[in-house]
Amino acid sequence: MATIDEHFAEDRDRFCLTPEKGAEYADSKWRMEGLAKLGEEFKEKEKQRAEKLLENPKGFHLEGRGYTCFICHDSTPEGGNWYDKWGIKCLVCQNAIDKGEIPASLAKNKKSWYTKYDFESAFNVKSPTLRKWVKEGVLKSRTISHYGKGVHYELYLIKDNKDFLPPKKLIESHPVSEEKDGKIWSHQEPWYKFVDPFEHLKGYKIMNYMRLVPPEEMAERKAEEDRKREEKRARREARKKMPRKVRRKSSKP
Ligand SMILES: [Zn+2]
Repeated sequence: MATIDEHFAEDRDRFCLTPEKGAEYADSKWRMEGLAKLGEEFKEKEKQRAEKLLENPKGFHLEGRGYTCFICHDSTPEGGNWYDKWGIKCLVCQNAIDKGEIPASLAKNKKSWYTKYDFESAFNVKSPTLRKWVKEGVLKSRTISHYGKGVHYELYLIKDNKDFLPPKKLIESHPVSEEKDGKIWSHQEPWYKFVDPFEHLKGYKIMNYMRLVPPEEMAERKAEEDRKREEKRARREARKKMPRKVRRKSSKP
């Protein structure tokens, strides 16, 4: 004897969807399936790489191009990568590892070194200051050469600058959410907005070279930057409006 499912009415209401809702669900299901498939493909690739690494412990080339070097972040050309237990490197960075310019471990351990970008985002310190510090012996840098010549990439190991650079977890930025026009917007704010920076990084010598910029000075700097940007834009506009002949003449003195 067939029994009547007492939840039938509920289920029917739940599953009788409007065409729009139905399309929405189908779309989200399709996207979820796509993601799951990607996840599986990724896992399968990882497994294959791990197996190949067992057979080739020194590493091997990955097929294809467009891998991001774990060190310099360049995109690799066809045949221009090397994969081993430390991850993917471009051949220039791999050569620097083989030559002992940098330790292999830093490809995997990003927290053990600073990039120029880290100095800029965490301390507002730009390249000219870094160059000055290196020249004065305040900061030690490591240079990845281009096969023994010139500079391919420059970085700063914490172990080379122990009392100067703090561990990177102390300078991590934090997400901040704010409501604007009825929406929640999230962005990152630098570490020094949440603590007393000189207390937080007490004992690290980089702080001897830092000062807190007062809000008025920050506003002045911003106004100056805005003014320069506006000037540049106006010059560009003026050039566009110039007749072609005049432009050509003026570009050749
Ligand atoms: Zn590289």
